[in-house]
Amino acid sequence: MKTARAATGIYIHVPFCVSRCTYCDFFSTVPEDDAIKAAYGARVIALLERELGTVRSGDLVSLYLGGGSPSTMPPSFFTALGAALRNAGIAVPAIEFTVEANPADLSARSLDLFAAIGVNRLSLGVQAADDAVLAAMGRRATRATLKKILPTAREKFGDLSYDIIYGFGKRPRDLTAELAWLFDLAAPDHLSAYCYTRPHRRGAPPVASEDTVVEEEEAIARSLTARRFSRYEVSNWSRRGFESVHNRLYWSWDRYIGIGAGAHGFEPRDGIRYRYPDSVAAFIRRPSPIVERLPRETLMREFVMLALRTAEGVPLDKFSKIFGISFSELLSPVTRARFLDTGYATLSATRLRATRSGFSFLNTLTAALFDDIERHERVHAG
Ligand code: SF4
Repeated sequence: MKTARAATGIYIHVPFCVSRCTYCDFFSTVPEDDAIKAAYGARVIALLERELGTVRSGDLVSLYLGGGSPSTMPPSFFTALGAALRNAGIAVPAIEFTVEANPADLSARSLDLFAAIGVNRLSLGVQAADDAVLAAMGRRATRATLKKILPTAREKFGDLSYDIIYGFGKRPRDLTAELAWLFDLAAPDHLSAYCYTRPHRRGAPPVASEDTVVEEEEAIARSLTARRFSRYEVSNWSRRGFESVHNRLYWSWDRYIGIGAGAHGFEPRDGIRYRYPDSVAAFIRRPSPIVERLPRETLMREFVMLALRTAEGVPLDKFSKIFGISFSELLSPVTRARFLDTGYATLSATRLRATRSGFSFLNTLTAALFDDIERHERVHAG
């Protein structure tokens, strides 16, 4: 039997950092010694080799190293990674190969090493371009660090992305000036702007007021639009042609393989999600993911929630192909009146999309659609 080609991505989680940032809620640790990194790296490479053997040639579209701070791994790890790809016959230039890096870890030498193993997209955790804000975030990089490394990164990588956090802390901040400084220094091709969510931890920095969040969001939108960036997902902006292939896999319901402590994977064909526990020791000892077959209603919700975050919106044909129902059957008159009639969303023959103003109300729109899904499933189950 012939099976359709399935775009597949691989995500490798490197849960190591040199120190913990004050805002961070990701799974990462500060390892006691380099032996832990070496053992972890060896496990990752062994699993990668195994997984590469399961992906049909041509299906792999992306390899993404995230963290944590992958840039804290030793050069030998990156060399072994490059060898694993070569041995598996992966034509690296044909896939998007991203490494996330902390600017404080980088040098011209480490950037050259990434480029030599085929990394063609560099994603830098810049977060801010104001020293007081960077200090409050607990970042190791300062403006001086950024000034030193960003132009070098720009020179060596044709696809450069920055992460920025806004809505952070009570200190007044001029995002327009911060972005202008960054773009003058080394203009990226892609920018992810994340609104700060306070971790559930004593002493975590406060969030900005609602008004400040809106002002900062608008400053980001104005600055990026003026630089011909498009908002292709709620938190993601890019120049045309530089949208992240890897992130699109998550939003488009494609297959992704997770490798590493805390990494997730998803098999859309079977509705299966798996996750490696948040434990470096367990991953080194015996990497064994927790596998979960998601109920149909959860899958429907996730499909809608993820697609709605994108500028393209929910593809109605794909939805009905996967779930066997037409999307317009789901939509209640209340949801239509609240979001379609008011201009927060549009419904065409092929897509349901949040409009620009609707992006600010995405949570309420998503919640209304969840209610519609639940109602539909209840009625049709009974
Ligand atoms: S470097 Fe990244 S993963 Fe590590 S503590 Fe900071 S934000 Fe978290």
